[in-house]
Amino acid sequence: MAAEPSDNPDLPLPPIPPNEEERLRELESYHILDTLPEQVYEDVVRLAAYICQTPMALVNLIDRDRQWSKARLGFADNEVDRKLAFCSYTINYPDDVFVVQDATCDPRFANNPFVRGDPYIRFYAGAPLVTANGYALGTVCVVDLQPHQLLPEQVEMLRVLSRHVVHHLELRRDLLQLEQRLLAHEQERHSLQAYLHSLETRLAEVQQQVLTDPLTGLLNRRGFDLRLNEEFDRARRYQAPLSLLLIDVDYFKEFNDTFGHVAGDETLRIVAQALNEGSRKHDFIARYGGEEFAVILPATGSDGAYVLAERLRRLVQQAAWPLRPVTISVGGASLTDDMLSVCDLIDRADQALYEAKRSGRNLCVVR
Ligand code: GH3
Ligand code: MG
Ligand code: MG
Repeated sequence: MAAEPSDNPDLPLPPIPPNEEERLRELESYHILDTLPEQVYEDVVRLAAYICQTPMALVNLIDRDRQWSKARLGFADNEVDRKLAFCSYTINYPDDVFVVQDATCDPRFANNPFVRGDPYIRFYAGAPLVTANGYALGTVCVVDLQPHQLLPEQVEMLRVLSRHVVHHLELRRDLLQLEQRLLAHEQERHSLQAYLHSLETRLAEVQQQVLTDPLTGLLNRRGFDLRLNEEFDRARRYQAPLSLLLIDVDYFKEFNDTFGHVAGDETLRIVAQALNEGSRKHDFIARYGGEEFAVILPATGSDGAYVLAERLRRLVQQAAWPLRPVTISVGGASLTDDMLSVCDLIDRADQALYEAKRSGRNLCVVR
């Protein structure tokens, strides 16, 4: 229907409610305009038409410039110019059901193109959809193509249906708001989780840094102490063997004096690499002091410790030394029942290292 209000210069314009901007904002808050059909509103128009015995019934909403139908029965258009809509009048009387018994006799509608032309409306009754805040958003209305009268009970049922529609609109809006809040919570939870994850990663990095020697990448003294105490307790608990190797670079002071500190540092890196190569997966290698290293050997007795010590000594000696061959002395000790703490194990290994030095260096002594 291409009816335009300008076709009828004599057509009076429907009044605009005094609270129009607030009313439009309220309508907007329901997010109902231009949505797909929903069964509950389809049912309402069928009920309204049946109750009022009319061929047409609609659930209409009055937008700024148009009337938009959420549900319609017997009426072709789902959108009509607001100036031509009967419901534009109804929303001005929030407390009443607005009835036009014969539109041809009513000066407000006699020249309406829907009255003068297709579909030739004669009768209209609309119950406003009034929200809890008092805004009339639209109507539940019935339309007939001949003059008609409603019984008081039918008028009352139209009111009931309009309350029913408002109730559903409110439920629908609450549900949408809940869904949005749920989504926002979910997003917040996700970003918190990501933040937590980044904190955990950073913490792990910091923990790693705190326990790592930057020159060699081995455990530092703090890492060594922690690990040795753990392994000591574990060995005691399970009556398992545990050995410790202390390693000192031979004549390193002289090396430094001859080739400089930078070359000395490079030497320490090469020693660390050789120790890494020669150790097993479950051993823990640490830079114990300046040019001293330590290897913790869980589940290893003195025989095994000696074999490993020898392997490390040989690997260092055979490394690709750029300036001159460098050697190490190794002192090892294994846990015995008389040892009360890690200090006893370290002391024993230290004594063995001292013995290795005294016996000529580039040697392993394991007690
Ligand atoms: P020994 O065979 O008896 O071990 O002789 P040594 O010269 O190696 O004696 P000692 O173990 O006491 O040597 C320690 C030297 O190691 C002192 C210092 O010149 C050197 N050193 C200690 N820490 C570092 C370091 O981080 N970098 C470098 N380049 N040298 C270090
Ligand atoms: Mg030393
Ligand atoms: Mg030394």
